[in-house]
Amino acid sequence: MAAGFRRSQALSRVAPSETIAITQKARDLKAAGRDIIELSAGQPDFDTPDNIKVAASRAIDRGMTKYPPVAGIPELREAICRKFERENGLVYKPGQTIVSTGGKQVIANALMATLDVGDEIVVPVPGWVSYEQVAAYCGAKTIPLSCHEADGYKLRPQALEAAIGPRTRWFVFNTPCNPSGASYSYDELKALTDVLVRHPLIWVLTDDMYEHLLYDGRAFFTPAQVEPQLLERTLTMNGVSKAYAMTGWRIGYGAGPEPLIRAMELLQMQTTSGASTIAQWAAMEALDGPQDIVAARRDVFQQRRDLVVRMLNQAPLLTCPRPEGAFYVFPSCAQAIGKKAPSGRLIETDQDFALELLDAEGVAVVHGGAFGAGPAIRISYAASQGALEEGCARIQRFCAMIC
Ligand code: PLP
Repeated sequence: MAAGFRRSQALSRVAPSETIAITQKARDLKAAGRDIIELSAGQPDFDTPDNIKVAASRAIDRGMTKYPPVAGIPELREAICRKFERENGLVYKPGQTIVSTGGKQVIANALMATLDVGDEIVVPVPGWVSYEQVAAYCGAKTIPLSCHEADGYKLRPQALEAAIGPRTRWFVFNTPCNPSGASYSYDELKALTDVLVRHPLIWVLTDDMYEHLLYDGRAFFTPAQVEPQLLERTLTMNGVSKAYAMTGWRIGYGAGPEPLIRAMELLQMQTTSGASTIAQWAAMEALDGPQDIVAARRDVFQQRRDLVVRMLNQAPLLTCPRPEGAFYVFPSCAQAIGKKAPSGRLIETDQDFALELLDAEGVAVVHGGAFGAGPAIRISYAASQGALEEGCARIQRFCAMIC
């Protein structure tokens, strides 16, 4: 039927997102009538705030429905500069910013615009899934930097120093981290940026997507703020998806040195062009409008985190550290490995654990292996309190039946 079809060699190196795969499986089971609690997807259950929706409708009414400039509408690029200065103490000019279709495209643009076959990127693990796959598309290799539960899954400066080699092009950093929730104090981040200062050819891609989801009064820091010497080789990436519950609007942005931004713009020009004009006006309202809802929602996420950590630590065989940020917990299921699931099947890996849990109790979570670490599972608490209570109760029941 598909005679003559073959994937390019570049695409053959890319694996699909396991997070999206399990979320889709959960949706299919739900559509088939099963009672499923979906704790796999990384998206807030909250609605986009009203002021942002109104800004989008106004943009439509004003006829703002034409192609935007490739790198973003000037008004949003200026709002991005204001955001970086106000919240991060970083001064950028609008020409040093780019708006893309989600944070994901900012990252893809940056890596695809700069990586060649044989290059390397160094990435802390557990870490978000897409960096490695985009690098693989480019023929570049990802060097994982192991982070350990005993260190709160924070990267040690010595591990960063040891991984850097002659082919290293990027250090990709994400705080608060998806999936571990690890975040860095000023001093912890300074210890990492001190290493980077000693390696002047390495660029820094910092994924600050969860900036506003930090708990217990912790302050957020980003590398170029802590070490201004890095400004000339750092891409600071962020977006509206998580903080403003705008996952479906598909707006992310980045700021960095102009040669990099221009290279990203060229790639975007010849692939997707500018991001949705309407969504850009909405994102401008998100950045410039009232911010109190962000803090209010962060407090709700903190309560949910506490609930989930407490309930999971009551489950036999799981140990759940208390994450500092983002909206995920990453409990270890090491004690369940080698034991039998309620189905009688052997749990050999954390993927088996996740699949058996979905099968037995209808709770969808993502296995740690998908993030390069484990045995563990990632549970998203960007879900209602009722869903979290029920989901955790089912996980407790499932674990109690493992023998
Ligand atoms: N970076 C991290 C760490 C994420 O978890 C995600 C989404 O899950 C993204 C980037 C992508 O964000 P967006 O939905 O804006 O493309």
